[in-house]
Amino acid sequence: MTREKLAGVLPRAALDTSVALAQIRPVCDDVRDRGAAAVREYTALFDGVDLPTSRVPAQVLADALAGLDPKLRAALEEMVRRVRPVHEAQRPASQVTRIGAGAQVTERYVPVDRAGVYVPGGLVPLPSSVIMNAIPAQVAGVRQIAVASPPRPDSGGLPAPAVLAACALLGIDEVHAVGGAQAVAMFAYGTADCAPVDVVTGPGNAYVTAAKRLLAGTVGVDAEAGPSEIAIIADHTASPRFLAADLVAQAEHGPLAACLLITTDPALADATEAELAAQVAAARHRDTVQAALAGQSACVLVDDTEAALAVSDAWAPEHLEIQAEDASGLAARVRNAGAVFVGPYAPVSLGDYLAGSNHVLPTGGTARHTPGLSVLDFLRGIHVVEYSAAALAAAAPHIDALGAAEDLAAHVAAVRVRVPHGQEVPADGGGPAAAQAGARQAAAGPPIRPDLAGRTPYGAPQLDVPVRLNTNENPYPPPPALVREITDAVAAAAGSLNRYPDRDAMALRADLAAYLGHGLTARQVWAANGSNEIIQQLLQVFGGTGRSALGFEPSYAMHPLIARATGTGWIRGARDADFGLDADRAVAAVREHQPGLVFLTSPNNPTGTALPLAVIEAVCETAPGMVVVDEAYAEFAREGAGTALALVPRYPRLVVTRTMSKAFALAGARIGYLAADPAVIDALLLVRLPYHLSAQTQATARAALAHAPALLATVADLRAERDGLVGWLRGRGLVAADSDANFVLFGEFGDSHAVWQGLLGRGVLVREVGPPGWLRVSIGTPAEMTAFRDALTEVLGTDTATGGGH
Ligand code: PMP
Repeated sequence: MTREKLAGVLPRAALDTSVALAQIRPVCDDVRDRGAAAVREYTALFDGVDLPTSRVPAQVLADALAGLDPKLRAALEEMVRRVRPVHEAQRPASQVTRIGAGAQVTERYVPVDRAGVYVPGGLVPLPSSVIMNAIPAQVAGVRQIAVASPPRPDSGGLPAPAVLAACALLGIDEVHAVGGAQAVAMFAYGTADCAPVDVVTGPGNAYVTAAKRLLAGTVGVDAEAGPSEIAIIADHTASPRFLAADLVAQAEHGPLAACLLITTDPALADATEAELAAQVAAARHRDTVQAALAGQSACVLVDDTEAALAVSDAWAPEHLEIQAEDASGLAARVRNAGAVFVGPYAPVSLGDYLAGSNHVLPTGGTARHTPGLSVLDFLRGIHVVEYSAAALAAAAPHIDALGAAEDLAAHVAAVRVRVPHGQEVPADGGGPAAAQAGARQAAAGPPIRPDLAGRTPYGAPQLDVPVRLNTNENPYPPPPALVREITDAVAAAAGSLNRYPDRDAMALRADLAAYLGHGLTARQVWAANGSNEIIQQLLQVFGGTGRSALGFEPSYAMHPLIARATGTGWIRGARDADFGLDADRAVAAVREHQPGLVFLTSPNNPTGTALPLAVIEAVCETAPGMVVVDEAYAEFAREGAGTALALVPRYPRLVVTRTMSKAFALAGARIGYLAADPAVIDALLLVRLPYHLSAQTQATARAALAHAPALLATVADLRAERDGLVGWLRGRGLVAADSDANFVLFGEFGDSHAVWQGLLGRGVLVREVGPPGWLRVSIGTPAEMTAFRDALTEVLGTDTATGGGH
């Protein structure tokens, strides 16, 4: 039988909204034209209550919550606890797709500004409806959520107290005592009491549904809610008692509810019928249940589970229960259903309240094309298109052809005004022009990945000048005694260089854990060739194609570079004006982009700013993926800065990276490490190269760690030198960022490059990095800092460099 035929013989209440549509049209028009006055009149007319304002006072909401039955409150809180994480998992991450060199499209998901949730009055109040509609909106990041629910004469002309309490529980303070079509029109058009919303969701009676259909062009609406339905696929393993109970529970929703039992077992069908007779007789809403079961409900006997699936898919039920052998296997093959409940212990009643899933589901066969309510109902994906001149040039010939074919000459002209004919330097891509470009590239060099073409490698200048203050190295070499220890350790290791080194560097990791403290063990520590390799391994495991990483710029430039090299999209978050990062800004960016990784550099390079632990905690609470705190400069932080190491036991997705390059004065040895949950380290094993840390490296690192105090002795001097420098720069009328690291960012110069050049000319190399107009200087020895100060004084004395400086 075809799907259409099958669907045609299966029962379902026919709904005709045309009558309701005709009735509500004047109501909606009137609310559009007369606003709050019209709402007030319809409320008086339909609900028998005259309310000067639709807005429910805040005190009433608070009182409703205070007066809520503690058991119901606990249940609602538990519902929130289960529903929220399921919806948090729905939030899509920003997607960055690279089309070619200099050409990328980012999909950003942005929440609507304001949502309206309708909660029906009905005979029984539905606080669960508030939660199921409002949580997805809250999780999506909707700033304003308004609820409308009809006033009830038995509740003193207010919506049901349980509904008001549920709103208060979720922190929703805008509730309107308005029901029916006038509520939907109020949301769509706005009134003096209620600003218009962008999206309306929530179930309602035929009038509410009709109003949503009528106003769908004016306001976003969720799917139409029709009578509730269940299909159950059951075989000989199912319990007739469970089946009957679930059918009765469904039928209890109303006389139009539809129940379909699809079974391969005639004996089960008979046994269920017998059970039903007993259970219906005992049902609290017996008449309703009987009407639903006698109306649009049926038992369908099928030959096998294949046929059962076909029947269910043709009917496309709102709820589908599978109580049969291999229920999970069957569930995985379902094509059309609002939600699927697998096995004997996942009844639909669980889903109505406490499964964690959403109970707002598509009815009437619309499950063929529409999903249940989700955070996506409150989000819009916005494509952000970024093309460089060269990338546009590469596309131009194709736009010529398409514009010509569609006779849209101005379209072509808008491109050609930017890329005149003959100036095309195709970046990459298909077509004859690109083929020529390919030929040129082949002649010019090897065929590298298109997304790396045109990029410049990391490259702080390595110039042989007397005072090198550009790569944040420690200016003090390891003391001679330690040089000897290292040499001896390396010599000992050299004796067994015929063997591969310890692949998991267990002894080194134990030493690093002991150095870090905070109760960390070797299982929570991992080491690699510099923290750059650590970052690369993290991005290889937790980033990659289709995933993105978020950082707050200006920050360490290798984070985006390594991200791109691993195919991970990079999202540029912003810092505050003083280069700090407040928790709200960080959390908002994480919420918006849902990145696979968040990078927090503390103290930050190049600004020197340390992050309060509260910011890191807030990000850990919000981030859907990994949070990487890059603490390369931790040892230089001023008193009281704190370290994210303390948070590692609490957050299994937090990674704290460190290095021996800076405070340990061991940049040449290439040793970086991290602290994280052991499961994170197990994941890194998937991408590390075998034997990545050489025997000499491990030996060097261990010898250095055994003498940590001697190596770290210079840290205090460097800090003092740094604080002195900040004061000196400010004394010169320059701006210097507060620093918790072994460098200082200073400015602002009209022409910072000229200052850099002037310093270089005087034998002092600093770094051109950070926002335009700023420079970064690493802290050197006292003699080096004197040389730097003298050189800068001279440069500032010449007016070439300082134009615009202050
Ligand atoms: N993180 C930050 C913030 C850095 O500034 C640096 C080096 N400048 C690194 C990581 C990398 O250090 P390494 O690879 O030497 O451990």
